[in-house]
Parts: sequence; C-alpha cells; structure tokens
Amino acid sequence: MTKLPELRELAITFLGLDMIKEPILISATAHYSMGGIPVNIAGNVRKNNDELVEGFYAAGECSCVSVHGANRLGANSVLEALLFGRFVGKTMVKEIDEIQLRVATPEDAQTALKEVEWFLSNNGNESVPVLREELQQCMTANAGAFRTKETLQIAIDTIKELRKRFKNIRIKDKSKVFNTELQEALEFGHMLDYSLFIVESAIARNESRGAHYREDFDTRDDENFLKHTMAYMDENGDISLDYMDVVLGKHELKARTY
Ligand SMILES: Cc1cc2nc3c(=O)[nH]c(=O)nc-3n(C[C@H](O)[C@H](O)[C@H](O)COP(=O)(O)OP(=O)(O)OC[C@H]3O[C@@H](n4cnc5c(N)ncnc54)[C@H](O)[C@@H]3O)c2cc1C
Repeated sequence: MTKLPELRELAITFLGLDMIKEPILISATAHYSMGGIPVNIAGNVRKNNDELVEGFYAAGECSCVSVHGANRLGANSVLEALLFGRFVGKTMVKEIDEIQLRVATPEDAQTALKEVEWFLSNNGNESVPVLREELQQCMTANAGAFRTKETLQIAIDTIKELRKRFKNIRIKDKSKVFNTELQEALEFGHMLDYSLFIVESAIARNESRGAHYREDFDTRDDENFLKHTMAYMDENGDISLDYMDVVLGKHELKARTY
C-alpha cells in the first residue's frame, strides 16, 4: 500500500481480486524490443555503418540509439523516448532548412497503394489472426530470453513457412476507411519481417549478452561479439548480417555481476 497502491486498484478493477486478501495470477510479457531502426545520437537513421538516410529520423522504442545495449533496464524506455524525442525534434528543425528533399509525386505512393490493393483483393484461405497466433507461439517458445541454435532454427523455418502462407490470406472487410482488419494484416506482415530480423541476428550471435541468453553459449564473448548487429533485408525477404563497432566511451569492459 505504501509503494504500489495502484497495482492493487488495477487488480480490483479488472480481476475483482484484492491482492491483500488473495493472490493474483501473473504472467510474463514482452515489454520492450531491444534494437530497432539504427540511428546516430542526433536521430538520423543509418543506411549502413558509414552513411545516413537523408531526411529520415527515428526516436523512442522503434529506434536503436544504443543507450541500452543488449538489456534495457526498467524505467529507461520512457526516459529515452522523452529525451531523444525532444533531441531528435530539434535535429529535424535544424536540418529541414539545410537539406533539399525531392518533391513527393503520386508515383511515390504506388508501392504502398499496390500493397493495400493486394490485401483487399487477395482471395486465399488463410486467416491473419490464426497465422499471428502461430507466430506468437513460435517466438515465445523458440526465441524468448532462453534460446539455442536448434530453437532459433525452428523459429527461422516456421517464420519462412508462415510467410508463404501469408501470401494466401483473405480479409473479409474490403472497405478503405477505418479498416482494422486491413491494418492488422499490414502489421502482421511487418511482424513476420521483424521476427526474422530477431532470430537471424540471434542465431549468428554465439554468446550470451543481456536479454539474449544462448543456452548453448552461456557466457559473454567480447572478443568475437562486442559489436552491434546490422541486419538488412533484400527484396526477396532474405536477411544478410553485418556488424558495427561499439563505442564504449568512458566505460571499461567488466564482467556483469550482481
Ligand atoms: C507492459 C509494459 C510495461 C512497461 N513498463 C515500462 C516501465 O515501467 N518503464 C519504462 O520506461 N518503460 C516501460 N515500458 C516500455 C515503454 O512503455 C515503451 O518502450 C514506450 O512507451 C515506447 O514509447 P514510444 O513513443 O517510442 O512508442 P509507442 O508508445 O509504441 O508509440 C508508437 C506510436 O506509433 C503509432 N504507430 C505505429 N505505426 C504507425 C503508422 N504506420 N502510422 C502512424 N502511427 C503509427 C502507434 O499507434 C503508437 O501510438 C513498458 C512496456 C510494456 C508493454
């Protein structure tokens, strides 16, 4: 009651249970994605290790400015979003007058429009909620904090199979306004891509670091893996990996102990 009174209120409101009198059910949940769109400290998106993408910025959980490394500590995400949100906004204001952006044309929207058209007209027999459930089960079972080469390989194979089945989906709502079924289908496509980025990067990292715990390589290996993974997806959906140096600044490398 002194430290977390709101938790008791939540359980009473949503579960009808008073945790002072009886236990409440708890379960694990993913609450942050380490990594993300690579950015420099000013928020410019990196194209690769050396180049930036002009006029493209990211901040918050979607980005990877690398303040967290392989394990984001509690409470630091909102802090990061607030700090870098403001900082990156300032960069944008400064740079918008300095860079020459090409004027957008109707052709620029064609890829997105064709994608939406495909979703609305595709007439397969797979359902997005069913596929999403299978992806979630697969990632929880095989790519959670504890993983091995074998479980990650299962995840890679499953995601590739789900991707094939995704080509055979059908959405029932054909409307173009407030179509949440369409939105969910689009998001699921991104989830498939994002999941593949996670598992392909993880299977190549033969060590344990932060929230990436490889049961088959249970120690941190700074000699070979003190580096950021840079993952690229080509037009066929295949992923290639590269690595970028870690800037340690004033920090010395130390074994992590509690
Ligand atoms: C259960 C849980 C507990 C957590 N606890 C903590 C904690 O105690 N302390 C802490 O610091 N952090 C915590 N976090 C993490 C923290 O809440 C998030 O990392 C943070 O809120 C991310 O903020 P954001 O603005 O970067 O992204 P988000 O809050 O995810 O905002 C992204 C926004 O973009 C919108 N969007 C997405 N796609 C599109 C699109 N194509 N077009 C337009 N809009 C789009 C989304 O709808 C969303 O509103 C927790 C997270 C969870 C899930």
